[in-house]
Amino acid sequence: MGLCLLERYRHLLPLTDKTPVITLGEGQTPLVRSRHIGARAGCSELYFKLEGCNPTGSFKDRGMVMAIAKALEEGSQGIMCASTGNTSASAAAYGAYCGIQTIVVIPEGDVAKGKMAQAIAYGAHIVAIDGNFDQALSLVRSLTDKLPFTLVNSVNRYRLEGQKTAAFEIVDELGEPPDYLCIPVGNAGNITAYWKGFTEYKAKGLASFTPRMMGFQAEGASPIVKGHPISSPKTVASAIRIGNPASWKGALTARDESGGAIEIVTDDEIINAYRLLAREEGIFCEPASAASVAGLLKLAAKNLPLQDKRTVCVITGTGLKDPEMASQFAETPIKHLPADLKTLEEHLRSLAR
Ligand SMILES: *Cc1c(COP(=O)(O)O)cnc(C)c1O
Repeated sequence: MGLCLLERYRHLLPLTDKTPVITLGEGQTPLVRSRHIGARAGCSELYFKLEGCNPTGSFKDRGMVMAIAKALEEGSQGIMCASTGNTSASAAAYGAYCGIQTIVVIPEGDVAKGKMAQAIAYGAHIVAIDGNFDQALSLVRSLTDKLPFTLVNSVNRYRLEGQKTAAFEIVDELGEPPDYLCIPVGNAGNITAYWKGFTEYKAKGLASFTPRMMGFQAEGASPIVKGHPISSPKTVASAIRIGNPASWKGALTARDESGGAIEIVTDDEIINAYRLLAREEGIFCEPASAASVAGLLKLAAKNLPLQDKRTVCVITGTGLKDPEMASQFAETPIKHLPADLKTLEEHLRSLAR
């Protein structure tokens, strides 16, 4: 058996002798080379980092394993988070695995079906509030000051420590950093964490340069691009439906220090990229994840020179989280036929080329 995430990067994580080494198999996710989208974007070397292959189907597990190991070390009785869905799925899984209580506060009616199913199955205490994610986060932030529960949203600094390991893995696998890293931006913890990872590798002499960080927000939820909080953020991509990102400053630092950019993609562009990823690359992701590819295609159309550049798009979560989205945007209608050999054969002959 290989080393788990906390062991593999122990020397670069804030672990002590007393931190329990726990794992559900997070990290070491595939970096898959693009077969078609790279060519569309005029990008000679494009890879997808498949974070949907983590145990609960999103990158949140990298941060959660670290945050919960530290919570256990500190003797915490339970964990609490606000969530658009993936943080709660991850918290609930690691909470169950470690035998501690998990409380999740979600915006009523705003969480994808698959993510809800996870929190329920793992046995979390679920509270749905009549409000959005930003309100839920503000509530749990005040509550953790009063109650003996550890806050495991990305404002918990250990979350970002765990999440930065994805940047380490990319450099370890490619042998050097990519020229560009494209990533969706919601609460902005992940772009902050990747930047931390890349800069730490460079500082340790494990990389000779750092990538340009290219972050993408959905048009109706683009506070960083607009320069002010959005009180009712709107987008099909529920995981980035956030109007007042907790790691706003971290995102600006990542953008400015790396010579990168944070830009807007529309819902149509997100859905287009979501379809392309599935149909041309065999990668079924959730809509928020497709924002990285939508952004890459948009920059390519604006003539960002990608030829001879190595680019990685972070595919943050699996499409199975949000099955309704797939049916809603499916392009291939289902053919309904009787259970009859002749009819079926006729139909299939019409498809054979
Ligand atoms: C959490 C999440 C995001 C957004 O990441 P932030 O750190 O909030 O910017 C994007 N995609 C998926 C699938 C997520 O779960």
